[in-house]
Amino acid sequence: MGQLQDKVAVVTGAASGIGKDIANLFLAEGAKVAIADLNIDAANATALEFDPTGTRAMGVAMNVTDEAQVNAGVEAVAAKFGGIDILVSNAGIQIVAPIVDFAFDDWKKLLAIHLDGAFLTTKACLKHMYAQGRGGSVIYMGSVHSKEASKLKAPYVTAKHGLIGLCKVVAKEGAEFGVRANVICPGFVRTPLVEKQIPEQAKAFGISEEAVIKTVMLKDTVDGEFTTVDDVARTAVFLAGFPTNALTGQSIVVSHGWYMQ
Ligand code: NAD
Repeated sequence: MGQLQDKVAVVTGAASGIGKDIANLFLAEGAKVAIADLNIDAANATALEFDPTGTRAMGVAMNVTDEAQVNAGVEAVAAKFGGIDILVSNAGIQIVAPIVDFAFDDWKKLLAIHLDGAFLTTKACLKHMYAQGRGGSVIYMGSVHSKEASKLKAPYVTAKHGLIGLCKVVAKEGAEFGVRANVICPGFVRTPLVEKQIPEQAKAFGISEEAVIKTVMLKDTVDGEFTTVDDVARTAVFLAGFPTNALTGQSIVVSHGWYMQ
């Protein structure tokens, strides 16, 4: 028996990077998983890769900033798999620039994906969790940037701090229904989102890519190591499977000691 046997999970942004690995480990732990992503081709390919029979994984087209798409996607998952037990609100992007050069449209776009996306998916999934009467677990993909700041990342740091606030409200409102909410705060993980930033930051700071990794990204870790997708996925399984309201409203940092709380 897996730790998440027959639980139904929606993982947003699960066609790539951290979300993809969470979907994979959830399936290995017995869950049924919806791979919800803006990129529907990649979401369907991921679902097929993980579960060729199509019985326990499904791709779902979902732009998390679009209320109608979020609601339709969550309904389709609940109809196919029989309700919703776990939401991992993970979809995200990164845009780097100093504040004085930051385009207002880019600020709004980033906040919408991280914060509107978290709100809309939470709202849609909570309705099912409350009505089903079998509890639930909401997990937000925060970051060390939910606790710390870095130059060039104004909207990202703002959004990631904001998720902690939303999590605490969900923890309070959800408690009577046995719904828990927590935030995972990873350090740097080598996904496409981070690979893209390395040359961008090298250019912005006028340093080499190697120096970005050593002196910007991993400088404060205890061992100079990147966090891995597996480190994050294991934490997600632990939070998703935790049996009581004792662990709710929390943010867990998984960062090789970059940030110690
Ligand atoms: P990634 O780029 O590998 O994957 C992100 C996924 O989100 C992609 O599949 C993309 O299509 C999807 N997506 C983007 N916009 C979307 C939208 N509007 N609706 C639905 N899906 C959308 O990135 P990743 O590194 O795996 O990041 C996943 C999450 O982890 C993000 O919230 C990110 O901020 C967070 N995070 C990443 C790191 C890191 O170092 N990689 C560290 C801390 C937190």
